[in-house]
Amino acid sequence: MKQLPAATIRLLSSSQIITSVVSVVKELIENSLDAGATSIDVKLENYGFDKIEVRDNGEGIKADDAPVMAMKYYTSKIRSHEDLENLTTYGFRGEALGSICCVAEVLITTRTAADNFSTQYVLDGSGHIISQKPSHLGQGTTVTALRLFKNLPVRKQFYSTAKKCKEEIKKVQDLLINYGILKPDVRIVFVHNKHCLQ
Ligand code: ADP
Ligand code: MG
Repeated sequence: MKQLPAATIRLLSSSQIITSVVSVVKELIENSLDAGATSIDVKLENYGFDKIEVRDNGEGIKADDAPVMAMKYYTSKIRSHEDLENLTTYGFRGEALGSICCVAEVLITTRTAADNFSTQYVLDGSGHIISQKPSHLGQGTTVTALRLFKNLPVRKQFYSTAKKCKEEIKKVQDLLINYGILKPDVRIVFVHNKHCLQ
């Protein structure tokens, strides 16, 4: 018996957390809600397999935190398991962004109230920053995931029929409707291939 290589362990555990397009959208929406967003735009291209983008007007991510924002088990939401007694956020495991980086190409653009301009970060498969540049967005965070599951043919294959793809869009729509009901004060817009679905 042999232990699997670290990169394989990472890919397999990430694919347990990020199992579908809808699971990416769920994690990103919850991060936006945790950041106090009142406006969230979800955009998919080609059922989410070419592009999933979630833009919010929340508090943004501080430049100091950017190097670890997509590192697994880094979170701003709890300090230790004792904090689980009084959770006020959806997230706390610090696994979502890191897992998405492992199964897609990820860009994060963010700006806090204290920043003069937004910064776009390009991340690698282990959640490290490859490059960064100034950009023009307002306060908040935009996470873009490109080419989901390109390195996981088994997951991709599951969506090889038009029926499965359409079902996935319906699931995203239902998820967003549910958050809309839970958070009536938050504006949530859903666009697929430039068509507004909600
Ligand atoms: P978790 O939500 O469990 O903390 P994530 O991997 O989803 O873990 O996110 C890691 C961290 O990145 C969060 O703790 C938060 O500090 C920051 N973050 C992620 N998305 C956003 C966002 N949309 N707005 C502000 N901060 C964010
Ligand atoms: Mg999260």
